[in-house]
Amino acid sequence: MNGRIPAGKPIIGEDEEKAVLDVLRSGQLASGPMVKKFEEEFAEYIGVEHAVAVSSGTAAIHLSLLSAGIGKGDKVIVTPYSFVASVSPVLAVGAETVFVDIDPETYCISSENIRAAADGCDAVLPVHLYGHPADMDEIVKISEEEGLTVVEDACQAHGASMDGRKVGSIGDIGCFSFYATKNMTTGEGGMVTTDDEEMAAKVRSLRAHGVGVRGEYDVLGYNYLMTDVEAAIGLVQLDKLDDMNECRRTNAAILNDELSSLDDQGLVQIPIEVQGYKHVYNQYPLRVPPDKRTRIVGSMRKAGIGLRKGYQKPIYKQKFAGSDVRCQEAEKACEEVVWVPVYPTLEPAHMRRMAWGLKKLLE
Ligand SMILES: *Cc1c(COP(=O)(O)O)cnc(C)c1O
Repeated sequence: MNGRIPAGKPIIGEDEEKAVLDVLRSGQLASGPMVKKFEEEFAEYIGVEHAVAVSSGTAAIHLSLLSAGIGKGDKVIVTPYSFVASVSPVLAVGAETVFVDIDPETYCISSENIRAAADGCDAVLPVHLYGHPADMDEIVKISEEEGLTVVEDACQAHGASMDGRKVGSIGDIGCFSFYATKNMTTGEGGMVTTDDEEMAAKVRSLRAHGVGVRGEYDVLGYNYLMTDVEAAIGLVQLDKLDDMNECRRTNAAILNDELSSLDDQGLVQIPIEVQGYKHVYNQYPLRVPPDKRTRIVGSMRKAGIGLRKGYQKPIYKQKFAGSDVRCQEAEKACEEVVWVPVYPTLEPAHMRRMAWGLKKLLE
């Protein structure tokens, strides 16, 4: 099987096209009835009382922190191994970051390390990285003991679950992104999910310039509104989400199967799925020997396969983060992980072709 396999590709079909045209023809382009419907259906899907649509995942995290009252003088426990937007909103609200190291098997923040750092902190921001839920039972337990607010970054984990409970419904508040490479997309977009009515009301106000119930502007707000055009795409994508996630899981299972002998020989580390958890593989992270990674990515690229190096710098090493902490496991992951495409338009033959290419380079 030949042809290019790009690093990512959203599935947009006739249903999305029709939904967008209907909105364009309705004359209601800004936030309106489609946004309201998308919020209702997303809340029901995740299993929470309230969902509030915003303009991006970053906006969702920013407003979640503000609605929890996090600001100057507060400390927020964060992971160094994620996209920068898992940390930048903490600095945007004026709070301090406390970086703790990850679990080398799930790549998510380690609950043991959270416990060690929790004293004196105000919130924790676990990321369900690559679509695998963080260790939420422990994180919620520690947070209850230590009085931390739990803000879940579920931007890569739409539909991921633990014992049937969907991520975004487990902590105090959850954040989703609908950027083009996520498990479902609206182009750009985001959602906040919570059972807390007061937090939801704050997010609703803050996303719309801080407007109050009588139309007054007492608090400083933002324009983080979603449009009806985006929400119309989101509604169609939400209907397809479970099927799209199943495709990702099937593709990941093929890779796991094909690469398990290399894993047994210690040449690679295939991703794990903790028992009872549902992984939705926004990315398929594969650890390869660090001295071979550049050559592997280069060779696969030459063959037209969009293999990518994962996050290459822990977030604390980005200039904006201004931190001199060191987290060993995060640094190791930054040197070893590659992302193998598993998005839903790829078929078993694509997966086997990529596995074959990887085996040839590694054996
Ligand atoms: C994509 C992403 C974000 C930010 O979402 P945007 O919609 O791009 O602002 C935050 N955290 C993680 C883990 C992400 O993958």
